[in-house]
Amino acid sequence: MEKILIVDDSLVQATKLKLILEDDYDITIAQTAKEGLHYASSKDYSLILLDVVMPDMDGFTLLKKLQEEIITRSIPVILITSLSDIEHEQRGLTLGAVDYITKPFHPLIVKARVNTHIKLYRYRKQVEDQSMTDQLTGIANRRRHDELSVVKWQEAVRLQIPFSICMFDIDHFKSYNDTFGHPAGDQVLAAVAKKIASFLQRTTDFVARYGGEEFVAFILGDSPNKAFEYLKRIRQSIENLYVPRNLAGTEWVTISVGGVTTVPRRGETYSDYLKIADGMLYDAKRFGRNRVVWANDQTGQWCEE
Ligand code: GH3
Ligand code: MG
Ligand code: MG
Repeated sequence: MEKILIVDDSLVQATKLKLILEDDYDITIAQTAKEGLHYASSKDYSLILLDVVMPDMDGFTLLKKLQEEIITRSIPVILITSLSDIEHEQRGLTLGAVDYITKPFHPLIVKARVNTHIKLYRYRKQVEDQSMTDQLTGIANRRRHDELSVVKWQEAVRLQIPFSICMFDIDHFKSYNDTFGHPAGDQVLAAVAKKIASFLQRTTDFVARYGGEEFVAFILGDSPNKAFEYLKRIRQSIENLYVPRNLAGTEWVTISVGGVTTVPRRGETYSDYLKIADGMLYDAKRFGRNRVVWANDQTGQWCEE
């Protein structure tokens, strides 16, 4: 059930709205703006119904705060205004509210407006998700990577935590396609992506298809040694899928991995380190493929034998 948050200091009024909507939606009531802000940023709401006049922080101030936060920015807000206070409506709409409902409530109108905005929100979410997902593998795409990497890099600079960047490339994939055909190659790509992603499930992990038969990942918080060891396990798990790479079935599909761990300093950029990771991947290929090569600030390069 879709979640709706009602922010209203009057419990009577909030309860009236709740009764109108609770058959179709999962309703939470917040009686202060502060509480409303807290709820909005901690759960996935699809809509907020916001009373404009409240004692602690008025609805407009809350609306502004919601718009400033990345997590709450995209949640549509419908204002609740008393009588037909045109000025309030105008101000609210210019601040980014999607609609308004005037008191006293007409249940059918409330339902119709809420349904419309929930539908629009759902649709927008779906389009957004699709535009960030790689169709073939179902994992994040390059665009999502480009957006998120900048945000996470800044976070690591601020918090001074280790940041690992890692590039993966399927070995001899051209010959796989030549032998088994492109559709079979597509299936292997999806299977490899799924396996890699299954290792990168923490909220601080991220993996995307970078293009072709290449993937990129970043991991926050692990020491270089821990990251290196972990990536060796991932590399091994691909080998252990035992996907034959030749008709005789004597060789398996493998990946080469290049990575780097650093505690990023101000002034350094993500793309500088992505280049280093790519250089390590190049070395992994050069040293014979099916291996992990890792760089870090202190001890230079580690190579898996
Ligand atoms: P290396 O070990 O040096 O990486 O050799 P490689 O053959 O994997 O590398 P190369 O860059 O020469 O070729 C990449 C191949 O990946 C060629 C291309 O057909 C294949 N490829 C890229 N994207 C896709 C895809 O979406 N589906 C399939 N089936 N193949 C793809
Ligand atoms: Mg490649
Ligand atoms: Mg390749």
